[in-house]
Amino acid sequence: MPMDIPILWPIYAAVFIVGSGIGSFLNVVIYRVPRGESIVKPGSHCPHCNHAIKPYENIPILSYIFLRGRCSGCQKPISPRYPAVEALMGGLAMLMLWKYGLTREFFIYSALSAVLIALSVIDIQTMRLPNPIVLTGAILALGLNLILRFDFLWQMLAGVLVGLLLMAFMGVVGKLLFRKEALGMGDVKLAAMIGLFVGLWHTLGMFVLGIAVGALVGIATTVISGKDWSRRIPFGPFLALGTILSLLWGKPLWQWYIHLAMR
Ligand SMILES: [Zn+2]
Repeated sequence: MPMDIPILWPIYAAVFIVGSGIGSFLNVVIYRVPRGESIVKPGSHCPHCNHAIKPYENIPILSYIFLRGRCSGCQKPISPRYPAVEALMGGLAMLMLWKYGLTREFFIYSALSAVLIALSVIDIQTMRLPNPIVLTGAILALGLNLILRFDFLWQMLAGVLVGLLLMAFMGVVGKLLFRKEALGMGDVKLAAMIGLFVGLWHTLGMFVLGIAVGALVGIATTVISGKDWSRRIPFGPFLALGTILSLLWGKPLWQWYIHLAMR
C-alpha cells in the first residue's frame, strides 16, 4: 500500500470531507439535470415547500442527521439519497487515495468516480444517461489526462476504441439473446467516456467485471422477483461498478483468475 493510514489519517479525513462536499453538488446535478433545470440558479431549496436551505442545513451528511432527515420548513422527509451520495463520494475518494496515494491517478479517478455516481443514480431513477453529463465527463477525461499524464494519449485512444467495440459486440449478443434492443446508445457513449478516462486495460476490466456483476444481479433479481427475464434493467450502474472495481482491485482479481485457470 502506498500510504500508512494511522500516520496519514488527517489527509484521509480531509479527502473524505472534500469528497462529501462534491457529493453534495452531485445531489444537485442528480435532481436538476433530468428535469432540465439549471445547476447554478436558484440556490438549494426544499422541493415541497420551497424553503431556502440555509448554509448550516447544507453540511454534507451531518445536516441530514441533525435535521433528523426532515425539512425544517415543512417537516417532509428528505430523501436518504442525499447523505448516501455524499458518503459514497467521500468513501470512493478515500479508497482512491488508499489505492493510488496522492498521485495524478488519484485526482483523475476521483473525478471519474464523481461523474459515475451522478450517472448511475440518474440511470437507476430515470433509465437515462443524460448527454450533457456524459459529455462533461469526456471533456474532464480529455482535459485531466492531457494536462496530468500526456504519455497516456495512446491508452486513451485505445480505451475509447475498445469501449465502443465491446459495447457493439454486447449489443449484437444481447439482441440475439433477448430478440430486442438490449443496450441503449447511452450505455455505448458511457463506455466510450470511461475508456477515455481509464485507458485500455481498465476498459477491459470494466467490461468483464461489469457484465459479471450485472449478470449475477440480473439473475438473482429475476429469480427472486419472478419478473420477465428480458425486462430492461439499467446497465450504466454496472459499467460504473465494473470500472471502480477494476481501478481498485483489477490486478489482484486478474491474478486470482489466472491462478485458478492455470492450475
Ligand atoms: Zn420543505
